[in-house]
Amino acid sequence: MTRMLIIGPPGAGKGTQAERICDRLGVPAISTGDIFRANIKEQTELGHEAQTYTDAGNLVPDSVTNRMVRDRLSQQDVEQGFLLDGYPRTVAQVEELDRILEANGVSLDVVLLLTADKDELVARLLGRAREQGRTDDTEDVIRHRLDVYDEQTAPVVDVYEQRGIVSRVDGLGSIDEVTERILTELPS
Ligand code: AMP
Repeated sequence: MTRMLIIGPPGAGKGTQAERICDRLGVPAISTGDIFRANIKEQTELGHEAQTYTDAGNLVPDSVTNRMVRDRLSQQDVEQGFLLDGYPRTVAQVEELDRILEANGVSLDVVLLLTADKDELVARLLGRAREQGRTDDTEDVIRHRLDVYDEQTAPVVDVYEQRGIVSRVDGLGSIDEVTERILTELPS
């Protein structure tokens, strides 16, 4: 049973790797970005609450995001483990996740930090914008999202470093290579 978080700057390949790791381990991937995008597409109330923020590359307010994650982590399929992707993204969200997990009597086993340099990230995100037509992937918004990561999400890594549960994985290379690197970092 493994409770994992994958973290890293936008474009590092978290979503792709999260799906592959979850397939291998048979646990659900919980991507807050994917949940927001699905709700925006379906035009739900949550989608309306989130869209102005996601379009601008800003973080959706904690009041909305935390409630959504709390609901998701109360579902039965997470009992055998899970992989969080894109949450927590601020130190305040780390504290909220601590409360949620503590109430469930569990804790995170490992935080996978996927690294890549900035030029590579921008190039990948521009490529993805062309392929998928993601509205949050224009060049200005991409650069802004990278700044938001440095300012708000990098401190999350520091918190988990202090707890001694961060494993760094080089995100450069083929998708298969990166998956193999991640699998070797997981507790057996
Ligand atoms: P992602 O696909 O993880 O890069 O997320 C896409 C967008 O969803 C982000 O730019 C934010 O606007 C929003 N989002 C995703 N996760 C969070 C979170 N944990 N807190 C706040 N906003 C989030």
